[in-house]
Amino acid sequence: MQTIEGLDPLRSAASQLRRDGPLALVPTMGALHEGHLTLVRAARRHAAHVAVSIFVNPLQFGANEDLAAYPRPRERDLDLLRGEGVSLVWTPTAEGMYPAGFATNISVSGVSDGLCGAARPGHFDGVATVVCKLFNQVRPDVALFGEKDWQQLAVIRRMARDLDLVRPHVDRILGVPTVREADGLAMSSRNAYLTAEQRAQAATLPRAMADAVAAIERGADVPATLATLSTALIAGGFTAVDYAELRDADSLAAIDRPGAVPARLLVAARIGRARLIDNLAVAPAP
Ligand code: AMP
Repeated sequence: MQTIEGLDPLRSAASQLRRDGPLALVPTMGALHEGHLTLVRAARRHAAHVAVSIFVNPLQFGANEDLAAYPRPRERDLDLLRGEGVSLVWTPTAEGMYPAGFATNISVSGVSDGLCGAARPGHFDGVATVVCKLFNQVRPDVALFGEKDWQQLAVIRRMARDLDLVRPHVDRILGVPTVREADGLAMSSRNAYLTAEQRAQAATLPRAMADAVAAIERGADVPATLATLSTALIAGGFTAVDYAELRDADSLAAIDRPGAVPARLLVAARIGRARLIDNLAVAPAP
């Protein structure tokens, strides 16, 4: 496994790997857990070699967010990736990624609006900009992202389509289902911010969301169900609900009841120092 920090060696290593067959890219911010490793295992099924990027991208953090506190267990991450048969780990520096004078911003409107885009202004511009750069740097044939970050996946697919990205082509941007802890909580590097008590309370999120999905699929009123969901989260120990919304699963357009197209329930809520997000599929109306 090669670990590379500079762009020139990265480009030659990636093109060397592409000679053996398709190259997959799994972009991450490190602090790896089973969710990330599941993406790597899925990537291996789609490619001859897997490249993983580890970059805590300053552009996607707001002024009052956790950029400085974000965990960076580098050696542990590298050991985990070695164990998964990863060929290349790309660990650019912030100065290398955004040298003095860097002035370009990729802004994907529509799918970036609302949800996390409203709660975290500029976040998806930062995500789109860094992912576009990662694609151009590594030039992977396929890239894998977690469905846990559903809106992020929609933003990246939109960007790839709109900018005619060829590597990876939009159809080679693959979503991987959310990996969960035994009590249903979606795995996240930010779960490490929780105390033991908050960690136990956090399981309210997937439980209350599953209840809301079941109610909506039975035909319950959507705004009333979402209000019940928010109340359950606050009663369960969350301090604020940034949003709890039903959206068209693909366009992310707001909907007030499930129609013929798949819908998605998306929630962001705060507990302790963490802001947790999750989403679940809602079946189309019969
Ligand atoms: P992050 O390091 O948080 O930026 O995540 C890197 C990639 O891993 C993103 O595509 C995430 O959506 C994905 N990911 C994070 N947590 C999970 C999870 N619990 N299940 C599946 N994918 C995940």
